[in-house]
Amino acid sequence: MRIDIISAVPQLLESPLNYSIVGNARENGQVEIHLHDLRDYSEDKHNKVDDYPYGGGAGMVLTPQPIFSCIEKLKGERKYDEIIFTSPGGEPFNQQAANKLSIQQNLILLCGHYKGVDQRVRDMLVTREFSIGDYVLSGGELPALVITDAVVRLLPGVLGDAESALNDSFQNDGLLEGPVYTRPAEFKGHKVPGVLRSGDHQKVKEWRFEQSLERTRQRRPDIYKKFLKEH
Ligand code: SAH
Repeated sequence: MRIDIISAVPQLLESPLNYSIVGNARENGQVEIHLHDLRDYSEDKHNKVDDYPYGGGAGMVLTPQPIFSCIEKLKGERKYDEIIFTSPGGEPFNQQAANKLSIQQNLILLCGHYKGVDQRVRDMLVTREFSIGDYVLSGGELPALVITDAVVRLLPGVLGDAESALNDSFQNDGLLEGPVYTRPAEFKGHKVPGVLRSGDHQKVKEWRFEQSLERTRQRRPDIYKKFLKEH
């Protein structure tokens, strides 16, 4: 898979893409991630990428020219499955959306900044808009990183234990993950539940499912109700 991220502040993207799971996936060639600085595509003599909004009001708007130049160059090089704009007004980004994106070949992620981008970019180039939650951030860089991380960890071979993505919250049965423990068996008087140390795989599986169901019932009644309906 290849992901191209377009941003007015690509420096914001670097560290999270260079370490841990995503960094390793890049090093192992499981994903190719390219960052594009909008300023490099600006035809303005001061490399400007934003301007005042028509009609007045606070905040600057990213101008269409650098975005079009960048995306058109990329589209000339390969076919893109989706050109995604991060926006508080987009469809909610969730695990199901991450699963679907993870089977694509080439994605573009466009980060908004300031007040956002000129509407003509959204009308003419963007194929999907995703929101990472009902709050407003100062730029699309963190949302682009969230989407990239959620997608890359699903690519084949990226997570060491092939099963571990399946057991995550929202994945598989859609429930929240229950409690997990590691050594020591007792810490400051608090013991690891006996069943996890019993060696009885069937019992462990049942316990995990019950815990997962109970946690979901308590914390996310919306998901719990949906699960009961479907099972
Ligand atoms: N005025 C805009 C918000 C601009 S925030 C509005 O009310 O919709 C600046 C940029 O940050 C946006 O263009 C978008 O790319 C990004 N952004 C902010 N919050 C986001 C969220 N919850 N999900 C995805 N992108 C977001």
